[in-house]
Amino acid sequence: MIPVTKTFLPPIEDYITQLKRAWDNGWVTNRGELVKELEIKLREYLEVKNIILTANGTIPMQIALKTLGITGEVITTPFSYVATTAVIVWEQCAPVFVDIDPIYLTIDETKIEEAITPRTQAILATHVYGNPCNIDAIETIAKKHNLRVIYDAAHCFGVTYKGKSIFEYGDVSTCSFHATKIFHTGEGGAIFCNDDSLFHQLYFHHNFGHKNFEEFFGLGINAKMSELQAAMGLSIIPYIEKIKIDRRIVSEYYLGALKNSYSGFLKIRDNAEWNYSYFPLVLESEHQLLHIQEVMNKNSIFPRRYFYPSLNSLPYLTYSKMPYAEDISKRVICLPLYHDMKNEDLEKICNILIDEF
Ligand SMILES: *Cc1c(COP(=O)(O)O)cnc(C)c1O
Repeated sequence: MIPVTKTFLPPIEDYITQLKRAWDNGWVTNRGELVKELEIKLREYLEVKNIILTANGTIPMQIALKTLGITGEVITTPFSYVATTAVIVWEQCAPVFVDIDPIYLTIDETKIEEAITPRTQAILATHVYGNPCNIDAIETIAKKHNLRVIYDAAHCFGVTYKGKSIFEYGDVSTCSFHATKIFHTGEGGAIFCNDDSLFHQLYFHHNFGHKNFEEFFGLGINAKMSELQAAMGLSIIPYIEKIKIDRRIVSEYYLGALKNSYSGFLKIRDNAEWNYSYFPLVLESEHQLLHIQEVMNKNSIFPRRYFYPSLNSLPYLTYSKMPYAEDISKRVICLPLYHDMKNEDLEKICNILIDEF
């Protein structure tokens, strides 16, 4: 079977070595030495100023909305994983969708201003497949209208924009370390924020508001990463460059093998260094997609429809039409992409595609 992705698992001895530290300490959560060490290592590797490790990649967005005091309308993209919209609704704010740019697949910055109302307080946008939003334009709009910017950078481990980590942009940026992501801790995630006083608030919000055992800065919730999660992260860090190279090789294979029969490859924004997190194909029609999916499934190949459906059609929302997001979400499929894909599997996938395009 060829799945859409495969979780990178380090040699089990590496994981046991890390776990043994937790055993020896008799300490499995509450920011023990493994979480603290992983934060330091990731801060260095990613070259970011501030990082808080969390239990998953969704609660950081909830904490960001809460910490920034967002209670009204949040401008967001319909083309993302459901978490991006769900956190807005869960925090009792109102998502206001802005359609996507059909080339980059990120929120269409030229349509943001017309969606702003007196109730708009923030923009929550996703760097889709690790491809940056138009960060500069969004920053300008946010300044002009006094809006806060949160980036769902769940796909962005290792991505840089204009020479610095993409996590450094926006008021708050978040990442997911779910098992399907490039770097993972089973479940896990992170919050990034350059403003030290805002960072301090995000920090205490993620740990019940504790100042110390008996005093509290204020209200908080539990978003802590455990030592057992951090043990996985620490075991994967030594392999992360190799994982990135392996994924680049797979991506380049697809590009080379398909370029004579297909021209709709994802366009990466200028000034971005990408991380090969997904390999999406936008096909001619949903009909063609379903057909290709069926042929592949018959051959035990399981590409996935990321992202489908377009989030403006979620059953708990009032529908508003988003022509590009709806059209593209019906036609986009992500090809299998992981660290140890075999050449013969790549060949098989490409041969099917070339026959069916
Ligand atoms: C994976 C993902 C999330 C959610 O992350 P979890 O770690 O599963 O909570 C949020 N947004 C996007 C775009 C994602 O792909």
